[in-house]
Amino acid sequence: MPTALLWFRRDLRLGDHPALLAALDAAGPDGDVLPVFVFDDRLWGPSGNPRRRFLLDCLTDLREQTGGALVFRSGDPAQVLPALAAEVGAGSVHVTADAGPYGRRRDAAVERALGEVPLVRTGSPYAVAPGRVVKRDGTPFQVFSPFARAWREHGWHSPAARPDGVAWTTGVRSEDPPPTPDLDDVTLPPAGEAAATAAWQRFRDERLPGYAEGRNTPGTNGTSRLSAYLKYGCIHPRTLLADLAGLDTGPDSESARSYANELAWRDFYADVLWHRPESAREYLKPELQAMGYDSGPDAEELVAAWKAGRTGFPIVDAGMRQLLGEAYVHNRVRMIVASFLVKDLHQEWTLGAEHFMAHLVDGDLASNNHGWQWVAGTGTDASPYYRVFNPTTQGKKFDPDGSYVQRWVPELRDLDPKHVHEPWTAPGGVPAGYPEPVVDHASERLVALERYTRATRR
Ligand SMILES: Cc1cc2nc3c(=O)[nH]c(=O)nc-3n(C[C@H](O)[C@H](O)[C@H](O)COP(=O)(O)OP(=O)(O)OC[C@H]3O[C@@H](n4cnc5c(N)ncnc54)[C@H](O)[C@@H]3O)c2cc1C
Repeated sequence: MPTALLWFRRDLRLGDHPALLAALDAAGPDGDVLPVFVFDDRLWGPSGNPRRRFLLDCLTDLREQTGGALVFRSGDPAQVLPALAAEVGAGSVHVTADAGPYGRRRDAAVERALGEVPLVRTGSPYAVAPGRVVKRDGTPFQVFSPFARAWREHGWHSPAARPDGVAWTTGVRSEDPPPTPDLDDVTLPPAGEAAATAAWQRFRDERLPGYAEGRNTPGTNGTSRLSAYLKYGCIHPRTLLADLAGLDTGPDSESARSYANELAWRDFYADVLWHRPESAREYLKPELQAMGYDSGPDAEELVAAWKAGRTGFPIVDAGMRQLLGEAYVHNRVRMIVASFLVKDLHQEWTLGAEHFMAHLVDGDLASNNHGWQWVAGTGTDASPYYRVFNPTTQGKKFDPDGSYVQRWVPELRDLDPKHVHEPWTAPGGVPAGYPEPVVDHASERLVALERYTRATRR
């Protein structure tokens, strides 16, 4: 009986899964599909515990959905996959294409190692596969807005049908997954495809209408919280876009467009990384690497305060504590804490990006590292270095009732909301146990601008 191997990576679902359909096609009516996940140290190693735990929970769910057929193996995929293909006599290995720098190298190595057994790439984790949307002259977009326009014009496929039933290969030896990491007090969302679908449907029906307005206020539950599901492919963005298309002319249209625009950001950063794989670690604008950054014991102490959420700037501290408590930070607050690290504490964006990747459950190389470069002003165009977020005015504007800060910073819970973002103005001064601001924002802003001007004048 022909066997097709389906190697799951960032596509941990069975619905809207073109590579699964390709595997079924290759196996034919009498064949079967062997689902496998490979624990690869190159990816498992650098993931923090929240992502490891979420991934393991997604895999438990997927194993149930495959009636227990999902096989775990560990090691270098370029050795594991050819050995498994030989073991079961697989005629082909099917994957959803990976667009990241490591994934592309790994897949090329697997393809070579498989020899005559083809590695078949079908679909991608994006609405439009990275590299597809280009300017008229064939060059990649550097700036988001024109990319997003071309992305919409390009369009995307409708969701693929969920197969009625799959003949999974059974009886193949599976290894034990790595031990479940301890999360201490971190709370994660429920994992897996059904949880992703339920989260999307709840958001679409209850909160999407207010999304265009509410997406910037971290104190309200205004966003979808789908990022971890999208990261691991528990749901595909095309499924979301197909639902949004139905709302495109209705009263929710502004919010539907706004939500699709955020999915366009996700595709944009993957596209930038596809064209410039080195930008995962290197400055997209290399001249800013020469800018003066702070080091030494004082700088290290400030970075430690940032990581612990003890800078004395309430919105920054709330964000950093949310990161430690939920392995997640609201998008507006990601921008504020990132700006603070780079422009108030004069640290390279790479330090913050690494810290985020160690803690975020949705940690994704393209969105995270280019999100950081965007804020630092070293990346895609829109936020030049001289735009420096003021943490106090940002807090007052986007968390006007102080509810987000008061949720994450218990020391400030007794303050009148009008003092929450400036506890030093409270009648009794800064409450006991909460730090005074670790820097003077106005003067650090000037230092940042001066260093930027010097670096760009060279
Ligand atoms: C410094 C920094 C680091 C970031 N790191 C990550 C990361 O590691 N992983 C990650 O998925 N997102 C990252 N983002 C983008 C964004 O903050 C999150 O996607 C968003 O907060 C997730 O919450 P949500 O699902 O409720 O978003 P929603 O507002 O509901 O948006 C829906 C989806 O659109 C996508 N999206 C939204 N905003 C962005 C954006 N700016 N860039 C790319 N995609 C976006 C996400 O997939 C998100 O789930 C980062 C942003 C910044 C500024």
